[in-house]
Amino acid sequence: MTALAVDPRDEDRLRTLIDGREAELIALTQDLIRIPTVNPPGDAYVPCAELIGTRLARRGFEVSYVRAEGTPGDSDRYPRVNVIARHEGKRPGPTVHFNSHIDVVEAGGGWSVDPFAAVVKDGRVYGRGACDMKGGLAASIVAVEALIDSGLDLPGAIEISGTVDEESGGFGGVAYLAERGWFSKPRVDHVIIPEPLNVDRVCIGHRGVWWAEIKTKGRIAHGSMPFLGDSAVRHMGAVLERMERDLYPALKRKTTAMPVVPEGARESTLNINSLHGGQAERDDGGLPSPVVADSCRMIIDRRFLIEEDIADVKGEMRDLLNGLARERAGFAYELRDLFEVIPSMTDPEAPVAQAAARAIRRVLKREPAFICSPGSYDQKHIDRIGRLKDCIAYGPGILDLAHQPDEYVEIDAMVQSANVMALAARDLLLGRS
Ligand SMILES: [Zn+2]
Repeated sequence: MTALAVDPRDEDRLRTLIDGREAELIALTQDLIRIPTVNPPGDAYVPCAELIGTRLARRGFEVSYVRAEGTPGDSDRYPRVNVIARHEGKRPGPTVHFNSHIDVVEAGGGWSVDPFAAVVKDGRVYGRGACDMKGGLAASIVAVEALIDSGLDLPGAIEISGTVDEESGGFGGVAYLAERGWFSKPRVDHVIIPEPLNVDRVCIGHRGVWWAEIKTKGRIAHGSMPFLGDSAVRHMGAVLERMERDLYPALKRKTTAMPVVPEGARESTLNINSLHGGQAERDDGGLPSPVVADSCRMIIDRRFLIEEDIADVKGEMRDLLNGLARERAGFAYELRDLFEVIPSMTDPEAPVAQAAARAIRRVLKREPAFICSPGSYDQKHIDRIGRLKDCIAYGPGILDLAHQPDEYVEIDAMVQSANVMALAARDLLLGRS
């Protein structure tokens, strides 16, 4: 690797350029928020992808639109359209890729402003997707454009993608593209995902996820003579009791070396997402008929650590259920997998993590924190399908505001993160480490 000296005046010029584009950054964020890309159902993906693609094509990017045909939710009414834009440098070199999801969750209630009006107030842009993650997407676009305009002699290529369906698993977005080589070497070397993780933190990965359905079975009988039947709800009660007695304490004892934030997520967790037994719930005021519940269904959301093996995670639940089957008369169950994600963690010494950390030190004058996310995001697909390890999440916005009413992104944070992204990309293109 040639040791390329970087003229500090170049860096000053780049940063002045970005700081001078604050108004443009706000306007782009507003334009993105005003396209309500709500998922589900996956609304307005085409105009949002085109907004990004048209802008970058004008700047000399080669733009591709890739529809993930046949993936969950894809239809002519709601096509899963992704946009990928690539800008070639003056000579061969590595590729730095900024990946943002363009979908947002539903607005929900409780807003004090119109969630899709992109109101600017008190140094913030408000709206659904402001922090998760249209502010980060806009910051990455402005950062990359400034890097190109700065006239720095940079090798390699820069890519920006706007991908769909992250909020529903990413199957029509990053997973689909990764399966087709868009997130693998030699096309891409380094990936930054501008998710809202605060401007001074580098997110190197996330925990694993296992969603499953547990069903207990019983035998229907008249409610006045429950002894003639067998209640699936009581069997499920036994499952809950066993979870409280054995499983929850065991999960609490499993701690991780992953720097997960918040700290409560540094152990294995289990959420009982939903529970329903017996007759369908009705809200029409009518009375139920008296029957013993012959089935009960629980959905569990188990988050696991990089130190755990998914087979063991599933085995632990199966052991609990098998234990009950041995001890409890009439206990019968089904356990069905719904969804799983393997934990992912990039080495904090990896080039992209170090480039972001150095840039944070220079722009913010403070020491960056390396963290992991309690939930998962598209890094899983880049790691597992694309086999690309050099990937982090870094972007403006406060994670806790994601999916909440009155979601916002701070304008200062967007400008700061654009500076960090531009410096990190420059270092990665120049092969500085
Ligand atoms: Zn997100």
